[in-house]
Amino acid sequence: MSYVDEVLERVIAQNPAQPEFHQAVKEVLESLRVVIEADEDKYRKEALLERITTPERAILFRVPWVDDKGQVQVNNGFRVQFNSAIGPYKGGLRLHPSVNLGIIKFLGFEQIFKNSLTGLPIGGGKGGSDFDPKGKSDREIMAFCQSFMTELFKYIGADTDVPAGDIGVGAREIGFLYGQYKRITGLYEGVLTGKGLSYGGSLVRTQATGYGLVYLTDELLKCHGTSMEGKTVSVSGAGNVAIYAIEKSQQLGAKVVTCSDSTGWIYDADGIDVALLKEVKEVRRARLTEYKAAKPTAEYHEGKGVWSVKVDVALPCATQNELNLDDAKALVANGVYAVCEGANMPTTLEATKYLQENGVLFVPGKASNAGGVATSALEMSQNSERLSWSAEEVDSKLKNIMVNIYHNIDDASKKYGMEGDYVAGANIAGFLKVVNAMEAQGIV
Ligand code: NDP
Repeated sequence: MSYVDEVLERVIAQNPAQPEFHQAVKEVLESLRVVIEADEDKYRKEALLERITTPERAILFRVPWVDDKGQVQVNNGFRVQFNSAIGPYKGGLRLHPSVNLGIIKFLGFEQIFKNSLTGLPIGGGKGGSDFDPKGKSDREIMAFCQSFMTELFKYIGADTDVPAGDIGVGAREIGFLYGQYKRITGLYEGVLTGKGLSYGGSLVRTQATGYGLVYLTDELLKCHGTSMEGKTVSVSGAGNVAIYAIEKSQQLGAKVVTCSDSTGWIYDADGIDVALLKEVKEVRRARLTEYKAAKPTAEYHEGKGVWSVKVDVALPCATQNELNLDDAKALVANGVYAVCEGANMPTTLEATKYLQENGVLFVPGKASNAGGVATSALEMSQNSERLSWSAEEVDSKLKNIMVNIYHNIDDASKKYGMEGDYVAGANIAGFLKVVNAMEAQGIV
C-alpha cells in the first residue's frame, strides 16, 4: 500500500466520527501523492505525514456561564494547536452549535496550509465552542466570552497562539475576549486579531477575507484573459466574508445577484444592495426576510438555492459542504466559468472534482480566503511595532499577498504537471514550506 493510503487509513481509524477532518486530510494527501511518491521512503521513515496530520496539542475545556434567567449553562470549548513549524499558531474561533472536535481539527489542519501560502510566519490552529450566539443578549455573550477566555488564556499569547474571529465571532466577541485576557494577565499585547481600531485593530481587517477573495479571483480571471468587470456573480452567506466579497465585486464592476443565510436566500436582479445588507445583518442582526421587506423587487426563497442561478462566477462564503454535486451540476449546466471559495471547504470533494472535470476554474479556500489571516498577521506586525498603518497601506499589502498566492499555486500546479489544478497547487505549495521547516527542526 502506498504511504499516502496508509496514512489516510490511519487518520480515519484513529479519529472516529470526524468526517470533516477525514475529508480535509483526504483532499490534501490525495493531491500530495505526486510529491510524496517521488521520495516515499524518506517521508515514511520520518513519519512526516503522520506528524502533519496529528495536532501538536488539542485543548478541550468546560465553559460554564449564567444566562439572563439565572440558569447555569455549560458549553464545550476547544483550541487545537495543529502546527507551529513556521510561526505561532494562528486561526479563528468559531461559535456555532455544530462545533465539535472534528470540525475544529478540519479547520486547524486547513489553516496550516493556508497560513503557509500567505508567505507570512504563522502556524496553524483553530478553536471555538458549541455555544450558539443567536438570540443571546449582549450580557450573555459577554458572560460566555469571559468564561471561555478564563480557561483559554493559559494556552495563548502574542508569541505562542493568536486567535481571531470566524463564524459567530466578530468585533463584539473579540472585544469581550480581549478585555478578559488583559484583565487576567495584565498584558496589553496582540494576543487576538480582529480587534477594534481603538485598541490595536488593523484597518481593513473586517473587509480582508472578502476583499482578498475578490482580488485573487480578479487575478485568476485576468490571467485567463478576462476580469471581474461585467461578470454576474452569485455569493452564498451574508456574514463577514460574504458582505465584503459582494462589496469588492461590485467595486470592480461585477453584479452580485444572490446572498443567503441559514434559513433562506435572496435573488436581486438589480445587484445586491450592500448598504441594506449591512444594515440587516451587521446592525439589526436580522434575517434576510428583512432585506426583502425593505426591497420588495428582490426575491426571497426559503431554504437553499443560490447555486441554481445562472452566473459567470460563484463565490461560496457561508460554511463547509454547502455546495454539493447537484449544485456543481447546476452551475456547470448554467455555464459557470470560475468558482472561488470564500468559506472553508464549502465545496464537497465530489463537487470539486465535477467542476474541475468540466473545465471550471476552481480555487480552494485555503488559497482564496487567506486574505483574512494574512491581514491578521499584518495586525500582529502593527501591534509589535506599536504602530497603525493606513487603510491604503494595508489594502495594498493585502492585494499583493493575494496576487502572489495565485501565482504561487499556479506555478506549483505547473511545476508538478497539473496545470490549472489549483487544489493541487495550493496543497503542494503550502505543504512544501511547512514540511521543510519541520525537517529542519528535527523530530519534535
Ligand atoms: P459569519 O458568522 O459572519 O457568517 C456566516 C454566514 O453563513 C451567515 O450568513 C450565516 O447565516 C451563514 N451560515 C452559517 N452556517 C450556515 C449553514 N449551515 N447553512 C447556511 N448558511 C449558513 O462567518 P464568516 O463570514 O466569518 O465565515 C464564513 C466562512 O468563511 C466560514 O467557513 C469561515 O470559516 C470562513 N472564513 C472566515 C474568515 C474571516 O475572516 N471571517 C477567514 C477565512 C475563512 P446566518 O446569518 O443565518 O447566521
